[in-house]
Amino acid sequence: MVSERAKRVKPSPTLAMDTKAKEMKSQGIDVISFGVGEPDFDTPDNIKEAAIKAIREGHTKYTPVGGVPQLKDAIAEKLLNDNGLTYKREEIIVSCGAKHTLYNIAQAILSPGDEVVIPSPYWVSYPAQVLLNDATPVFVRTHEEAGFMLDPDELEKHITGRTKAIILNYPSNPTGLGYDRAALEAIAEVAVKNDIYIISDEIYEKLLYDGAEHTSIASLSEEVKAHTIVVNGLSKSHAMTGWRIGYAAGPEDIVKAMTKIQSQSTSNPASIAQWAAIEALKGPQDFIRTMVEEFDRRRRFLVEALNAIDGIQCRMPTGAFYVFPNVSGIIGKSCGDRTIDDSSALALYLLEEARVALVPGSAFGAEGYIRISYATSMENIRKAVERIGEAVERLS
Ligand SMILES: *Cc1c(COP(=O)(O)O)cnc(C)c1O
Repeated sequence: MVSERAKRVKPSPTLAMDTKAKEMKSQGIDVISFGVGEPDFDTPDNIKEAAIKAIREGHTKYTPVGGVPQLKDAIAEKLLNDNGLTYKREEIIVSCGAKHTLYNIAQAILSPGDEVVIPSPYWVSYPAQVLLNDATPVFVRTHEEAGFMLDPDELEKHITGRTKAIILNYPSNPTGLGYDRAALEAIAEVAVKNDIYIISDEIYEKLLYDGAEHTSIASLSEEVKAHTIVVNGLSKSHAMTGWRIGYAAGPEDIVKAMTKIQSQSTSNPASIAQWAAIEALKGPQDFIRTMVEEFDRRRRFLVEALNAIDGIQCRMPTGAFYVFPNVSGIIGKSCGDRTIDDSSALALYLLEEARVALVPGSAFGAEGYIRISYATSMENIRKAVERIGEAVERLS
């Protein structure tokens, strides 16, 4: 018998769709995937070379649990230069991807019955990780008209005596939108006043468009910093999803607890990946600009093409590599005896009729939307949008 805890976490609502997409592909049907959550770029060569060198030099053994000091220093330098944040080694921990970092945070701060505020739409792992730690996710709806930014009054209304933290993700997966400084200030004020932690997932920090600049909420003041655990990693910024390097910087007692937990679960992240990460952080960064320029081109094309489809309204995202169009104009339509009741039905319809795999908004706690990732080639994007347009036109 599996545990109550294991039962609490539901299988991904997109799993059935994914299985079906793979099935269709294996039958030779050319399904285009708009569902991917990783850059379609290869890890830069200088980073690969650093890993090969690390192997040759014998960096193939256990390292300190929370990462080698050289990597912690590279992270500290990055946080200072990019974010204006000063952290000591003792306030930094490296883990096996930012997802693992977030899990360690949940383990370190949550007790049974605690509550964590999660603005919706949200990244799917946030509520699952809270549930796995016997705590309760408390969802606060955000609105498209407000750029999906959390309203500080709404946040305050959802805070109780059991609230331990709020999770913020900017730029956001799935919306591709972020927070401006004023919005961050208002949220930080509520968090500090109520003495709750801000878990700040900044994994898409480098993927920003139109000259937008990233502000880390922790940089607003020393008081805010003391309440914040900054989460970041190399998966998205350096196309290193498979290397599994993520990190957190925050109050020393929390980082110490996370390190203790990590010491009894995974131990250190892969030694070789750590040395590659040092090169990623300290080596040339022009790869990021090239990648962002390509994403930007796709973003503009995709948004315009989607808005040309009747029933779809798509905001221009400011970051990450997702668009989150409003499809409520299509929900309720039908084709023959098939009715598109919700975003899941639409996703299934588009998979079967347009051979395009994407994720329904319901997976992120936002009905009436779909998430499209543009981490795929321009050619695929062109083809996929055309097919979506044709399939939607057949609905009435
Ligand atoms: C991809 C992603 C992560 C974590 O990625 P890792 O590969 O585990 O470092 C964390 N948060 C969000 C919102 C993501 O999209």
